Amino acid sequence: MRGTVARLSPFGESVFTRISRLAAEHRAVNLGQGFPNFDGPDFVKEAACSAIAAGHGQYARMSGLPELNRAIAARFAADHGVTVDPDREVTVTSGCTEAIAATMLGLVEPGDEVVLVEPFYDSYPAAIAMAGGTLRTVRMRAPDFHFPVDELRRAVGPRTRLILINSPHNPTGRVLTDAELGAIADIAMKAGCLVVSDEVYEHIWFERPHRSIASLPGMAERTIVLSSLGKTFSLTGWKIGWAVAPPHLTAGIRAAHQFLTFATTTPLQHAAVVALQAPATYHERLRADYAARRQAMLEALRGAGLDPLTPQGAYFVLCDHTRLGFAGDEAFCEHLIRQVGVAAIPCSPFHADPAGASHLVRFAFCKDLATIHEAGTRLKAGLRGLAAVPGS
Ligand code: GLN
Repeated sequence: MRGTVARLSPFGESVFTRISRLAAEHRAVNLGQGFPNFDGPDFVKEAACSAIAAGHGQYARMSGLPELNRAIAARFAADHGVTVDPDREVTVTSGCTEAIAATMLGLVEPGDEVVLVEPFYDSYPAAIAMAGGTLRTVRMRAPDFHFPVDELRRAVGPRTRLILINSPHNPTGRVLTDAELGAIADIAMKAGCLVVSDEVYEHIWFERPHRSIASLPGMAERTIVLSSLGKTFSLTGWKIGWAVAPPHLTAGIRAAHQFLTFATTTPLQHAAVVALQAPATYHERLRADYAARRQAMLEALRGAGLDPLTPQGAYFVLCDHTRLGFAGDEAFCEHLIRQVGVAAIPCSPFHADPAGASHLVRFAFCKDLATIHEAGTRLKAGLRGLAAVPGS
């Protein structure tokens, strides 16, 4: 009997679901799936409770609660210097993942090419497959993960509908430089294609501030900026996301969104308005807290004899495990979960062809310091003898 459609069957169970399940089974410290193990801020939670108590229990407007669209547009203007029309250029979605799917379903024709940057977030190729698009890839490579501009130039052609970028980047932590963004913009403008920019980690950067490619000259008219509340407010389960795009592209996104989820949960949209009005000090504090967690994570990994690659943004650290002698990232992560009691994510699933991409594993540091320290203690004890011998 037929089951899953052919275009989705290659994706199987997501690596995050699989690793979280294994972590729970083995009581491992879960540094796999990227969700904070601490709660979002009280002022946002209280706003949600008040919205429920006030009776906001029916469908919101399909494209978003008008106040939330206005709050998103106001932040966009303040953060990126780009003025957008809240009613015609902002769409509220059920998390950024829905925005990614709606963008692909509403703007990509079967056969259109979409260029992804490896390593990529796992929902991108699945959304492209659902839309019937054709995947092309370019790759950011360790240890510095610079953007492969020449590769992109070669990958983009007359059939390219869009280039999907993500900065700050999951899983490498790259924050793209102005020069890299400029080169991508130049390629997109010459090819006449769109850019989708996933900016969900926009407020988590450590040295160089995040900049949106939509703020570059000529780019707002061809860019779809996607973001969400989840990472910035440590509320990944609320699933409030949004897409900002010029009206003719917003029309495509909404054409899909209205039949995917129709509208996003109403009381949490009311609370999102309050969240987006947070003062600059909230974001400064968020960054300072994440800088401390990054430091603790780097020290924990170094203390266990590993060589972590320092991220510039987002909340993940990559490590090359190859000198420990495991067959690959999956084997290393299995060992970590079962024998060491720490869960990390293998990075090969973030590639179109996992073969030849199994040298990196990802540790999430969106965890309280005690959890990061506990992981460090377990790694140090569990990897003793394995990690200490370079070249072994
Ligand atoms: N964004 C999260 C991560 O990269 C995972 C979200 C999910 O499980 N789909 O870890």
